[in-house]
Amino acid sequence: MVFEAVSHILHPDHKKDDHERSNEEITNEAEKLRASVGDLAQNLAIDRLTQFLDANGWDHGAAKEQLESTLLWRQEKQVDMCPVATAKNGLPVLVSVRGYKNIQDQNIQSHPQLSETSIRILNYLGGDSFHKFDKEGHPLLIDRTGYHQSKELGNDVTSEEIKHFQVACNEFLNRVIMLEASERAGRPIHKETIIFDCTHMGLWQFHMSGLLKLKQVAEYVQGYYPETLAHLFVVNAPSAFLVMWRIIRLWLDPKTLEKIQILGKDYQDVLLKYVDSESLPDFLGGNCSCCHLAGGCVPSVNEGRIPFLVKKEENEKVPSVYNSDIMKEAKTNVIYRQIVKE
Ligand SMILES: [Zn+2]
Repeated sequence: MVFEAVSHILHPDHKKDDHERSNEEITNEAEKLRASVGDLAQNLAIDRLTQFLDANGWDHGAAKEQLESTLLWRQEKQVDMCPVATAKNGLPVLVSVRGYKNIQDQNIQSHPQLSETSIRILNYLGGDSFHKFDKEGHPLLIDRTGYHQSKELGNDVTSEEIKHFQVACNEFLNRVIMLEASERAGRPIHKETIIFDCTHMGLWQFHMSGLLKLKQVAEYVQGYYPETLAHLFVVNAPSAFLVMWRIIRLWLDPKTLEKIQILGKDYQDVLLKYVDSESLPDFLGGNCSCCHLAGGCVPSVNEGRIPFLVKKEENEKVPSVYNSDIMKEAKTNVIYRQIVKE
């Protein structure tokens, strides 16, 4: 999931646009974009169209190009058919979850429906959790960045495998978690708030080849999921992170930089301005401990909070996140890809 977080900050094409628009103006601009794209954009909501305008500084030509390429990519790769875990279908999650109705609280775990690729990737990640919401209603993703096995991720996982994994995580976020966030807030929510906890981070994690691979995958993903970051907090940032940050910030545009706060040890008051104490884990200065599940609020294999996921024979070696029978089944059975309303 570090890919998702980094994908938010590595898209170089944003343009700064501070013009305040009325709702009427936004609707008109979005409808203009819809009309220019034609049939493929017919069913898109106004706020979805607005994401593409916003990501491109309200430049219609650039927004049209990005939207068209996204819609064609979705069609070509059959992204709508990508299965997502829901409370109804019981598929195993790719990210641990806490505090939602659309999906039961659960940890990542070895499961016969997962591919070998997913299990390999999950064992290298530092530990992630979609954990409740921030004060503005955005889902909160917490990442134990300091525990990522970045060398192994770089050497033992292909770009294709990472892309499949990241797209599946984004689809789960949009179709399950964001849907609930929007229903809960009574307005469309398409952005998430992310916390990177750098505890345990060291120079051992920084490999230029791994970083460049990350950039490549991040740009691919960001191209198809624009404007989805509300806030990003990097906490417990050690001096080693600042070395990497000097490189990363050169890839960023000012609008994205405004959403990022790099904080050392004194971050608790800043986080509590954005997240209620009961939604913030105790190890980050809040009151939540999620003691009902192993690993607490943010379970981590590499921190030893939950056991390594053991690969079994039934975990197929395919680039998709679930085994091929689930991928096939999802094409005809909507329960694998949609929320079934109560
Ligand atoms: Zn918790």
